[in-house]
Amino acid sequence: MSHEYSLTYAQQLDTADPLQSYREKFYAPYLRGKRATYFLGNSLGLQPKTTQEEILKIMDGWANFGVEGFFLGNDPWLNYHKHITPLLTNIIGAKQEEIVTMNHLTVNLHLLMISFYQPTATRYKIICEAKAFPSDQYAFQSQVKLHGFDPADAIIEVHPKPGTELISTADILSTIEEHGDTVALVLFSGINYYTGQVFDIKAIADAAHKAGAYAGFDLAHAAGNIKLHLHDWNVDFAVWCNYKYLNSGPGAIAGAFVHELHLNNNKLPRLEGWWGNNISNRFKMEKSFTPAPTAESWSMSTTPLLLLAAHKASLEIFEAAGFDNLLTKSKALSEYLFFVLNHINQPEEKFTIITPQNSAERGCQVSLSIHQNAKAVFDTLMPLGIFADWREPNVIRIAPVPLYNSFEEIFIFADTLRQLLNE
Ligand SMILES: *Cc1c(COP(=O)(O)O)cnc(C)c1O
Repeated sequence: MSHEYSLTYAQQLDTADPLQSYREKFYAPYLRGKRATYFLGNSLGLQPKTTQEEILKIMDGWANFGVEGFFLGNDPWLNYHKHITPLLTNIIGAKQEEIVTMNHLTVNLHLLMISFYQPTATRYKIICEAKAFPSDQYAFQSQVKLHGFDPADAIIEVHPKPGTELISTADILSTIEEHGDTVALVLFSGINYYTGQVFDIKAIADAAHKAGAYAGFDLAHAAGNIKLHLHDWNVDFAVWCNYKYLNSGPGAIAGAFVHELHLNNNKLPRLEGWWGNNISNRFKMEKSFTPAPTAESWSMSTTPLLLLAAHKASLEIFEAAGFDNLLTKSKALSEYLFFVLNHINQPEEKFTIITPQNSAERGCQVSLSIHQNAKAVFDTLMPLGIFADWREPNVIRIAPVPLYNSFEEIFIFADTLRQLLNE
């Protein structure tokens, strides 16, 4: 499709966009009386206007029924998670039984590693991407040490080829093969937070299984951003947060996936708490733990209802818009973004687009490595009403999301960047 570099053209794309009205369903920051362009949905998604209402319903239940809110009222809290799970199946590509909403991302990563990283004297290695998100690196290191191994020996990072930023699938697969029966767990992100590169989850899971290892994924930047088929891809487990693309608020309750194959496997170790008990036994206060027959068996503590309410409000918007429609718009937005970026980056190349251009290898985030005065350029964006993200040493990341970003915002970003780079 041939695009045009003009404001009117971008506005025409907005007018033709069937999801345009969703933008008004979110609060957005204002600067000098003007709605700012918010490209930080990969960091903290904007607040749906319905979130406060959903939270207030829980507050009312608490006020009116106290603890009996778990059982009384129009919407007893005990069943509240049933609002959530069905809304996630299409986003995550999983069966309802495979999904549990609990805790926070890094906590869930640890809990699932307790189950799926059970090293032996000979099979103890974790294969992961170089420059994984720091919290993940700390989780891997501390888990390895917990089992008495040395991170320097047990953690194998797959690096990009020298002089490049992206990691090739072939290198990932050959590393797994090379370490073969010493590999206990292969753990990648779905999308690397820095480069925006999508990893080939299915190919990685297949290679891990061939080596006799488990395959887990951190989907922090993938959930709500790209199409996932965790069940069909035979992913063993996955974790994600809900405050990035899933707009469920700062410190939102997180999610986890455990493949059906593992749900009734009594040999898999698991840290347990009363909330993972089968609901028919949960309040009998008996000595024995009868795991829920679903991924809920990994949950330990009383559900934080206020967080679930915020999560529900957001997922209902995804459901109303249709996740597949959102992905179609997301592709269109980022296609236009690549067009305008390539347009302003000639004849003289002033930045490098790190993120793969091919839409199958990225989500909506695009990372730009700015050749000169990067920090000064970045620092000028916010006062001009553009919220973007800075990563050392010279990278600006932006994530135009389909629910609340527009083609016009993409044009304005590019044209602002063009002017700043020419100054
Ligand atoms: C955002 C992010 C985290 C953050 O973890 P929390 O436990 O939610 O604070 C962890 N890992 C990755 C890959 C992330 O992108």
